[in-house]
Amino acid sequence: MKVMKFGGTSVGSPQRMKEVVKIFNPAEGEQSFVVLSAMSGTTNSLVEISDYLYKNNPEGASTIINQLEQKYMGHIEELYATQEFREKTAQFLNEEFKYLRSFAKDAPTFSSKEEKVILAQGEIISTTMVTNYLLEQGKKAVLLSALDIVRTNENGEPDLNFIRNATVAKLKEVPDYDIYITQGFICRNNEGEIDNLQRGGSDYTACLIGAALQTSEIQIWTDIDGMHNNDPRIVDHTEPVRQLYFEEAAELAYFGAKILHPTCIQPAKLAGVPVRLLNTMDPAAPGTIINNEIQKGTIKAVAAKDNITCIQIQSSRMLLAYGFLRKVFEIFEQNRTSIDMICTSEVGVSVTIDNRSHLTDIVSELKKYGTVEVDDNMCIVCVVGDLASGNVGFETRACMAIKKIPVRMISYGGSNYNISFLVKAEDKKRTLQALSETLFK
Ligand code: ADP
Ligand code: ASP
Ligand code: MG
Repeated sequence: MKVMKFGGTSVGSPQRMKEVVKIFNPAEGEQSFVVLSAMSGTTNSLVEISDYLYKNNPEGASTIINQLEQKYMGHIEELYATQEFREKTAQFLNEEFKYLRSFAKDAPTFSSKEEKVILAQGEIISTTMVTNYLLEQGKKAVLLSALDIVRTNENGEPDLNFIRNATVAKLKEVPDYDIYITQGFICRNNEGEIDNLQRGGSDYTACLIGAALQTSEIQIWTDIDGMHNNDPRIVDHTEPVRQLYFEEAAELAYFGAKILHPTCIQPAKLAGVPVRLLNTMDPAAPGTIINNEIQKGTIKAVAAKDNITCIQIQSSRMLLAYGFLRKVFEIFEQNRTSIDMICTSEVGVSVTIDNRSHLTDIVSELKKYGTVEVDDNMCIVCVVGDLASGNVGFETRACMAIKKIPVRMISYGGSNYNISFLVKAEDKKRTLQALSETLFK
């Protein structure tokens, strides 16, 4: 069995849906497990509806719901050829939009629980539309609800055992289908409530299911020919990277390569299932394979993570003292805030965080141990490849490339695959460009 995930643009219009189902077709005797995102733009609209409801503005929410309904109803004529499937899908969409409108009535008590239910509707709609299209085409396809097979644990992390058992059990209930469809992104939490795997989470769903079922491959189909060596939204003339080691892909995803959800590579790596990134606009293009092979002595790609805050704690008490760093890290742990980069000297430590929600409490606690300085609007630029310490000169090349850019922190040696620089957000573009010019030309 192959797991294939198709992102928002890949199912972004009736025309795209018709094209994309041609790729689902499993080889003779094989089965495809297809994970779909919401149609592009839909999750953003659902976020907007929720924003209005948080602000107790049901009128604002209704305007977006009406626009969305018009758009979806317009897709029916284009997607389906028969009256039967047009009516069936129209009935389903009517129920969906009635459901969305029901939240507007409860606007004064709107909470994150309701928001998660609203956000789940994008994937529920896209998967139902595509399954109906496949059925109309006479395909042996069946829709499995991700709400039955994907669950997170008490820490909000995916519960791989549950996912494995539930998916295997579901497949046994409906064994003889060629194409299984499910929703990306959405799940239940350990309380049984509807939840999600964060924005871009459909990649994560695919990797979790592929890992749980130990499939031959996990395919992530998107709108670009694989992982590029730099962010194509920012830098011109980026090139696809044909192969990445699991660890390299995980670093790139975590440090901002939007093509992959930040933590989706982890389960694939643990299960040893290769991940292939492919382009729905050009299905024959080779894309990128992510597997367990290390290409010695190559720098592969660069990525950047935005909205980083840097916190520096300086204290002469750190000099020759033990236990100082433990106290500092405990403050972050107590505030459930994870640290990305760390640099230390004899009298100080700088760390970066990407979640500012507990910043005030963290800074106030840290002040008990030293002088604290906070720098906002920073950006981590991460160079990924075979950067083991034995590869003489590789980190120098990266540093030389950005010799004209003020660097706030440098982190090297934490893993063999990454060197990271902390720069001001305003210097992000020229940092990425300078690295491309020196490392990949
Ligand atoms: P999907 O909706 O299919 O999940 P995404 O928009 O989440 O697609 O991811 C694909 C996009 O990621 C590309 O269109 C590209 O603009 C962006 N991207 C950012 N960094 C990279 C990179 N290093 N390589 C390829 N694409 C990247
Ligand atoms: N639809 C969700 C989002 O836009 C999940 C995904 O596309 O991966 O974030
Ligand atoms: Mg995505």
